[in-house]
Amino acid sequence: MSVIELREVTKTYNGGVHALRGVDLKVDYGELVAIVGPSGSGKSTMLNLIGTLDRPTSGVVRIAGHDISKLSDRQLSALRAKNLGFVFQQFHLSPGVSALDNVADGLLYTGTPRRVRREKAAAALERVGLGHRLDHRPNQLSGGEQQRVAVARAVAGDPPLLLADEPTGNLDSASGAEVLRILGELHASGTTIAIITHDMDVAAWCPRQVKVRDGAVS
Ligand code: ADP
Repeated sequence: MSVIELREVTKTYNGGVHALRGVDLKVDYGELVAIVGPSGSGKSTMLNLIGTLDRPTSGVVRIAGHDISKLSDRQLSALRAKNLGFVFQQFHLSPGVSALDNVADGLLYTGTPRRVRREKAAAALERVGLGHRLDHRPNQLSGGEQQRVAVARAVAGDPPLLLADEPTGNLDSASGAEVLRILGELHASGTTIAIITHDMDVAAWCPRQVKVRDGAVS
């Protein structure tokens, strides 16, 4: 079974912009795939659909086997909590909150008890090499460390699918390489990863590239 399946997916925004024009895509469990294309090609629109944050205008989006058009908003939240981790270019950590709590709070919607949330958060931070930074707040961490906290938050619940939107876009090359190394380790341990990027080096580092142009995939 594919973890991501898009069939003849279109997305037209109010105002008539055809952001996606009939996209077919299958990503199997265990893949590490780059979704690449120039600005405005439809990558973020695809990510929003795959992340079940938006619904297609037509076509079928299946995530972990579930046709998202058949699910209520509440069921979609549950699907996201169980199956998806998100990493963004801008980290999106809560300021003034420790690394441990930033990661633990990501598990709030999984129904995990607080003590277990904190244990899983500590283990996830350990996994990204930040076991010694649990009590640091975002402003006490470098950009690369902040992104590693964001990665820990995304994988603390062990989701099968990690979606990363330009995860190295705000980092210097050494920090970016470190984040990619961690994503590579997660992939090696079984996590399926889709990275949205316009960075050709990041794309080339992935075993598979899905090219998006003018709302179509090749
Ligand atoms: P990318 O992520 O590759 O830069 P996007 O998916 O953001 O591409 O955008 C694809 C097209 O859809 C662009 O023409 C963009 O202007 C348009 N678009 C994106 N989001 C919206 C929106 N919320 N409303 C209207 N048009 C949008």
